[in-house]
Amino acid sequence: MTPHDEPYDAIVVGSGITGGWAAKELCEKGLKTLVVERGRHVEHGRDYVTEWLQPWQLAHRGRGEQEVYDRDYPIQSKNYAFGEATRHFFVNDREHPYITAEDQRTVTFSRRGR
Ligand SMILES: Cc1cc2nc3c(=O)[nH]c(=O)nc-3n(C[C@H](O)[C@H](O)[C@H](O)COP(=O)(O)OP(=O)(O)OC[C@H]3O[C@@H](n4cnc5c(N)ncnc54)[C@H](O)[C@@H]3O)c2cc1C
Repeated sequence: MTPHDEPYDAIVVGSGITGGWAAKELCEKGLKTLVVERGRHVEHGRDYVTEWLQPWQLAHRGRGEQEVYDRDYPIQSKNYAFGEATRHFFVNDREHPYITAEDQRTVTFSRRGR
């Protein structure tokens, strides 16, 4: 693989002020930039709040609310791991929309989160 085969010119790790500003500058200079963000801290065990729940213990028995998924999670809900028991690990697509220039295609990854 040559450097020209790489899909990105720059990869920024972290979207805090340092990474966010770096990404802004790189994008404004025309570089294809990928930002990866680990998301909030998840404590092993303590933060797995639905781990031991059975489907019948969930409000919609694990099926969730399709109208909410369509409205708020149209991209995230395509992930195989998305569901009523895991929704809290995914971002709301309305609050975190994918925005791309008219002439660019949107690339979405099948995994998002940490
Ligand atoms: C309580 C508190 C109050 C503050 N108040 C002020 C204030 O009033 N004014 C002020 O100017 N400054 C304030 N600061 C300081 C300011 O928040 C920091 O200086 C600034 O956020 C540092 O920015 P950063 O981008 O370097 O790091 P961060 O903001 O910490 O960003 C790092 C990002 O990288 C991500 N990340 C880490 N590891 C990985 C990984 N392996 N893969 C992917 N992503 C990863 C993190 O999730 C995070 O989003 C405050 C800090 C704290 C803690």
